[in-house]
Amino acid sequence: MPQTSIGDMTRQQLNRAAQTADLDPDFLAIIAHPKRVLRVSVPIEMDDGTVQVFTGYRCHYNALRGPVKGGVRFHPDVTEDEVIALAAWMTWKCSLIDLPYGGAKGGIACDPDALSERELRHLTRRYTTEIMPILGPDIDIPAPDVYTNARNMAWIMDTYSMLTGHTEPGVVTGKPEILGGSLGRKEATGRGAAIIARELVQALKLDMKDVTVAIQGFGNVGSYAACTLAGMGARVVAVSDKTGAITDENGFPVEDLCAHVEESGTIDGFPGARLPGEELFSLDVDLLVPAALECQIHKNNAPHVRAKMIVEGANGPITPEADHILEEKGTIVVPDILANAGGVIVSYFEWVQARQGMAWPLEDIRARMEGRLKTTFWEVWDEAATCKTCLRMAAYILALKRIEQTYMFRGLFP
Ligand code: GLU
Repeated sequence: MPQTSIGDMTRQQLNRAAQTADLDPDFLAIIAHPKRVLRVSVPIEMDDGTVQVFTGYRCHYNALRGPVKGGVRFHPDVTEDEVIALAAWMTWKCSLIDLPYGGAKGGIACDPDALSERELRHLTRRYTTEIMPILGPDIDIPAPDVYTNARNMAWIMDTYSMLTGHTEPGVVTGKPEILGGSLGRKEATGRGAAIIARELVQALKLDMKDVTVAIQGFGNVGSYAACTLAGMGARVVAVSDKTGAITDENGFPVEDLCAHVEESGTIDGFPGARLPGEELFSLDVDLLVPAALECQIHKNNAPHVRAKMIVEGANGPITPEADHILEEKGTIVVPDILANAGGVIVSYFEWVQARQGMAWPLEDIRARMEGRLKTTFWEVWDEAATCKTCLRMAAYILALKRIEQTYMFRGLFP
């Protein structure tokens, strides 16, 4: 169980960064609160004919820099507090990467594994209808997150389009390609995390060929991170998912592992030594990529972490207490708002393509994403050196300063 609530976690991170960045107190007061949070009831008819009412949320954390952007997650643990925290992280992330967006997040408390395709379709469509007043290509643009994917985005797009009377591909990103989804969007978050890991390895003057990797979570982010890292020469020696962990000190044949997961849904049954999932964090590897949920590395397991580098594929996988322990130990952590920003970067490209009515080639998308990530990595690296702080605080300082400048020009309405 996490020791810190996720809301406390974002507040602690913000306050620490605000002190180092010397933020204007009025701006800090504004940015410490979400702009709006909508809670909706989502009633649907289940396959057995009964009606069940789910609770959904959509938070617009801050819209100073443009329409708000962020995923929608379907998970039993979704709460208002979590959605607000995730929307705050989206705000910092979009600013850090210099996208013309504010931050949002949404979710429905549900167990998607227990729902049929038809029930999921109704849930997605009714949720979209309920959040319709705050949705739109110039207002709020959802995307996939934990346990949602291109299929859900297609339903959101269709529902929005039916209710407005015209097809609107710009209202969501991460759509199927046939509906205007960008090439390279699905791979983007995991691929981006691998690119960031490579820059870190270079900054530390190491060689990718000598780097061993453990990845927690083998969903969209973890699997693409594994494939890209293996392609860069690193050895992926441990992976985990909800069924536990497997290790292979020689490095997994990652393509085969991905094919196995694609077919069976889990890593279970793939050749390798089995371990309880939580032991993954204490393995003697060079690089850890937590790519599952929040608060996975906390004050109880942080002392056992042996990796020198952590690249946060998930949002908020390390609690502030654990961050402190890792900092003392000299573990270098690349924060989520940089490490997993590949996804929202390509989401932005998808939105631009929708506005242009034009599809870009995959190589352009990959090159542009890589360029943005590399530039930002080195900005954060240099800022950390200048401010003598960790990469997370450096990233926060850059992100918050950019929002603060926007606020200074726009001013407070009215
Ligand atoms: N859910 C993803 C994230 O946390 C992507 C958001 C987006 O593409 O808008 O970054």
